[in-house]
Amino acid sequence: MRLVFENIDFTIVGHMQSLLESEGIRTELRNAGASGIAGEVPYTQVYPELWVLNNREENRALSIIRDYREKDAASPTVPEWKCANCGETVDGVYTECWNCGTPSPLM
Ligand SMILES: [Zn+2]
Repeated sequence: MRLVFENIDFTIVGHMQSLLESEGIRTELRNAGASGIAGEVPYTQVYPELWVLNNREENRALSIIRDYREKDAASPTVPEWKCANCGETVDGVYTECWNCGTPSPLM
């Protein structure tokens, strides 16, 4: 068993679990009901944890989680920008023009 993810927000941990399960990785949630299980929760502040049952799937699980979080962080909020030097439209995730290397005016 390997711990691959934990978060204070149970809905995020649950979402990661379904993401991994959909990739065929078997997982287990711990501390899902942090108040409930007597004897199993020694601390008052316990985050929900996502564990991978098969240690050999740990790396794959971690990369799925990383990819998801990168996409999540990159996609919705960053607008495209137009290079002041060469006029190319540049994807918002880049801080420099891919064409001429001019820094983004948003930075
Ligand atoms: Zn440019």
